[in-house]
Amino acid sequence: MSVLVDQLGRVATDLRVSVTDRCTLRCQYCMPAEGLPWMPPEEMLTDAELLRVVGIFVELGVTQVRLTGGEPLLRRSIVDLVAGIAALTPRPKIAMTTNGLALGRLAAPLKAAGLDRVNVSLDTVDRGVYETLTRRDRLADVESGLRAAAEAGLTPVKVNAVAMRGVNDDSVAEVLRWCLERGYELRFIEQMPLDAQHAWDRSALVTAAEVRERLQRRFTLTPLPGRGSAPAQRYLVDDGPGTVGVIASVTEPFCQACDRTRLTADGQVRNCLFSNRETDLRGPLRSGATDEQLAALIRGEMWRKAPGHGIGRADFHQPDRPMSAIGG
Ligand code: SAM
Ligand code: SF4
Repeated sequence: MSVLVDQLGRVATDLRVSVTDRCTLRCQYCMPAEGLPWMPPEEMLTDAELLRVVGIFVELGVTQVRLTGGEPLLRRSIVDLVAGIAALTPRPKIAMTTNGLALGRLAAPLKAAGLDRVNVSLDTVDRGVYETLTRRDRLADVESGLRAAAEAGLTPVKVNAVAMRGVNDDSVAEVLRWCLERGYELRFIEQMPLDAQHAWDRSALVTAAEVRERLQRRFTLTPLPGRGSAPAQRYLVDDGPGTVGVIASVTEPFCQACDRTRLTADGQVRNCLFSNRETDLRGPLRSGATDEQLAALIRGEMWRKAPGHGIGRADFHQPDRPMSAIGG
């Protein structure tokens, strides 16, 4: 099967799979306090369906699979899913983005099943601020989840943080210090218009430039070369070996180097987080489509990929699906 190329010649090799839209937290920048109308179970791909589709993506040149959500550790079969992906040929690298709450229990079995790396979301190391931001008092669980990930060898353990104006923007240097002390690799991500509440406000955005400026009041940052298609610009902190990454999705987009493709928990292929359309695989899959037919649908969706996300343009329209249902 040929590779997943679009009209600009970008080739998708990194597949993000959302395995559930549910979550144990209610982060302010992601979903409302009351949660969301969750996907009905019958609309979600079963493990066998999901593994078949991921296998087709791998035949189409995908070399890294990242499991996400919603909260991926809420999927009861998550360890079996990792083992199933690890059994594909050629075996892709397997990563996960998680809020970390259940890693204390699951890090070791996930590693044994074949998980290679983990990104844990942690926006603050202050218990009260964590509770305000996520609407749950669970900071201690994330801390033990991070320790378990490091002990299990899911290294380098990466931490994702989003800075929100008036909530945790004044403590970015403190989060970096905390991560450096523990050997975790921190990356700040600009807040994107992907919240279910559509409350994102460009004028309140804590930009990557502002995060860098705040960090530089306390640390010396030296840009590291060799970014390639990685969204994070990485910096050596002081004299190293610690580093920090800054992902400027909004103010310094990296769409021209994008190598992503996405599969939602209900079997839709998306060529971009910000896409306003998607291609259904679940219907054809359940009506007996062959691997070749599914591959053609995936290739078609990727071929249509837009040059850029267009945030800030007058005609920008926030996608109907929130981040938690697309897979971040
Ligand atoms: N629940 C898992 C977690 O939080 O890591 C996985 C899904 S979550 C949607 C994936 C990542 O997206 C997290 O690092 C989260 O902080 C980030 N995220 C969620 N909403 C965002 C937004 N509006 N802008 C930028 N990042 C966001
Ligand atoms: Fe859940 Fe992740 Fe969204 Fe927070 S960012 S509410 S942990 S899906």
